[in-house]
Amino acid sequence: MNFRSTRSNECVSPSFALLHGLAQDGGLYVPETFPENVLSYADLAGKSYQDIAAVVMSHFFTNFTDDERKKMIAAAYNDTTFRDDRIVPLHSIDTDLSISELFHGRTLAFKDLALSLFPYLLTAAKKQEQEEREILILTATSGDTGKAALEGFKDVAGTNIMVFYPSEGVSPMQKQQMQKQEGKNVKVSAIHGNFDDAQSFLKRVFTNQEVNDYANQKGVLFSSANSINIGRLFPQIAYYVSTYVSLVDDGAIAADEPFDVVVPTGNFGNILAGFFAKKMGVPIHQLICASNKNNVLTDFFETGVYDMNRQFYTTDSPSMDILLSSNFERFLFYVAKGDCTKVAQWEKDLQDTGKMAVSADELAELRRNFIGGWVDDDETEAVINHVYNDFGYLLDPHTAVAYGVFLNRHKQGLDQGRHTVIMATAHPYKFPPTICKALALPAQDDPFAMLEEIRGITSMALPKPLLDLKDKAVRFRDSIPKEDMKSAVLSFVDTIAATKK
Ligand SMILES: *Cc1c(COP(=O)(O)O)cnc(C)c1O
Repeated sequence: MNFRSTRSNECVSPSFALLHGLAQDGGLYVPETFPENVLSYADLAGKSYQDIAAVVMSHFFTNFTDDERKKMIAAAYNDTTFRDDRIVPLHSIDTDLSISELFHGRTLAFKDLALSLFPYLLTAAKKQEQEEREILILTATSGDTGKAALEGFKDVAGTNIMVFYPSEGVSPMQKQQMQKQEGKNVKVSAIHGNFDDAQSFLKRVFTNQEVNDYANQKGVLFSSANSINIGRLFPQIAYYVSTYVSLVDDGAIAADEPFDVVVPTGNFGNILAGFFAKKMGVPIHQLICASNKNNVLTDFFETGVYDMNRQFYTTDSPSMDILLSSNFERFLFYVAKGDCTKVAQWEKDLQDTGKMAVSADELAELRRNFIGGWVDDDETEAVINHVYNDFGYLLDPHTAVAYGVFLNRHKQGLDQGRHTVIMATAHPYKFPPTICKALALPAQDDPFAMLEEIRGITSMALPKPLLDLKDKAVRFRDSIPKEDMKSAVLSFVDTIAATKK
């Protein structure tokens, strides 16, 4: 299996795509031929999450042997990295609604599912490509990716990681998670500004020739842990497959019975993995793309026009505050039926005008698989309150957005009786201020004090990663102007070079 670019006929091996992330023409890598309808319940029944992941991965990472893939999967998904031995447990809310809990990893966000495995894929690819340099992962984060990447790469030989987060753009709990990060090969810094500042300044450092030459001369190669890397995207297919197997095992649906999924969406990686699972044979009927007030995708699925020229909002669900979804280009490749010239033109339109449009036929076709919906912060908080009071189940704000979109469809009778699964992307305890507000508990300054209040009424145990966090020492207090990111990177390159000697 090779991977090709969405914008040209450039074609590379999986190991090359893993190591380099982005195609040379600026496009994203997709499988040269997609493995369609290769999965069935009969073949998957009784398999563990790890076994299912091994089956999924065997279709994409053909550069590794069965044994190599299995070893990586065993190292990524086990009882030290996940707090539930099912890895992704299914919670039944009602006969027609289940919740797939993707938040039982080390950082309590669904990003752990990809970022627990990605470092193994990357270091194995590095070996295959005979790359001798030390890798330095550079990441700008709006919260969850940074922490999950730090945990994934912590003390992994041959790699180092540096994370920049916006000083005013992450939740208090997320900030503590990053400031207290452990590991010998990690560095974290806040920057003055918002996520877009962090992202665009980092991009400048990444593509700066002088900086790259300096790193190269010191034996360091820059890489990223972005959700556009095939090593992050394709492992996510496994949890859609395992969710399907659990639904049938639990009797929520019959084997081969279609079901819908609702996905809280930001960069479009999670929902795209669901689309790929469907292509591989999982009987997903509709993929419902849930957004907050930054509803550019809802509008696209309604009108066929993707228009970024609009106000950006900061919401209760920060990981979905995105106007340009980086994985959307891969979806467009399938909308265009593999016509890479068309994709390149759409991407050029987006870059030049902030806007692109598909044809009426293309819209009709893609709406057979995808629809969108959105809710604002007030509705999100009302949903958290309602689901807690009626079902005793506490939702995080991102998952609550998806639940709100489900409720609106349900009320309109649009689900036609199909079973629905909501993908739960974060543990509610990661967002104490919003939960307190939703449950009408008094606000406090200290996030741990708020957690105590929430725990007081829910009796839901504090997950160990948060329990441990409270008493850990702060290691990274730096908060720098964005202009200083370049020198911060160079100085970490020096540290890496000195440690290596
Ligand atoms: C990253 C994230 C999302 C968005 O996922 P995408 O794959 O970027 O669409 C949603 N919820 C949470 C909690 C996240 O961390």
